[in-house]
Amino acid sequence: MCDTENECGQESLWTPDDIHFMQAALQQASKALGEGEVPVGCVVVRDGVIVAGGSNKTNETRNGTRHAEFVAVDAILQQAGGNTAAARFSECHLYVTCEPCIMCAGALSLLHFAAVTFGCPNPKFGGNGSILSVHETACGSCSGRIRPAAASGADAGQQGAEVPLPLQQQQGDSDGGSSSDSLEGAVRGAGSAYPSRGGLLAAEAVALLQRFYAAGNPNAPVPHRPVQARPAAAPQTCAMQR
Ligand SMILES: [Zn+2]
Repeated sequence: MCDTENECGQESLWTPDDIHFMQAALQQASKALGEGEVPVGCVVVRDGVIVAGGSNKTNETRNGTRHAEFVAVDAILQQAGGNTAAARFSECHLYVTCEPCIMCAGALSLLHFAAVTFGCPNPKFGGNGSILSVHETACGSCSGRIRPAAASGADAGQQGAEVPLPLQQQQGDSDGGSSSDSLEGAVRGAGSAYPSRGGLLAAEAVALLQRFYAAGNPNAPVPHRPVQARPAAAPQTCAMQR
C-alpha cells in the first residue's frame, strides 16, 4: 500500500497539495456519512485542480459497485461527453480516504490513472497492497481474470488463485462505442500499473468509519449491533491537521 514502510502515516512526506486534496476527499466521506453511506470519499485531480469528487452511493442505489471511485469516474466521463480520450484519466491523480478495493483498483488500472493516494488501508478488500497489489500488477489482458500479487500477503490465499474481475468484460476485444455514465466502453486493452501511497490523514478516515459502524449499518443484512440514531454529519470537522 505504500512505496516504503517508512512512508505510511508520515505526513511530513506529503506536500501541502496532497493534504489539501485529501481533506477534500474527507469532506466527500463526511457527506457520505450524513447520507447513511459507508463514509469513503475521493477527489480526482488533474493539472493541479479537482475535476471530480465522489462518495459512496451503494446504499442509496442498492448497487454494490457504486463506490466513491466509480462515482467520480462517471462524473469525469460525463464531463467529457463519454469520450474516454477527452477524460484524460492518464493525467488524473486519485485521492481517496480508504485504500481502493480490488474492484476499484482494477478499474483505475484499466483507465490508466496516473497515481493514487489513499488514507487508511482496507484490510478486507484492498487492491493496493492489503489483499492484492493491482497497482503493481495491473490488470493483465483483462480477459476476465486478474492475477494476485506475486508473493502477496497471507490473506491473499483467501482470494483463490484468481479473482473474478467485476467490471464488464468486453474491453479490449469487441466493445465498440463509449458510454457517458458507465465504465463499460471506457476501458481498452490491458491496464497499467500506477504508483500508490497510503497513510495520508488515515486517522481522520478511520474516525469517520468508526462513527458509521458505531451507529450500526442500517443496510447490513444482520446488524452486528443495534442500529441507533445516526449523528448528524459534521462536514469539515474531521480534526484535520495542517
Ligand atoms: Zn471500491
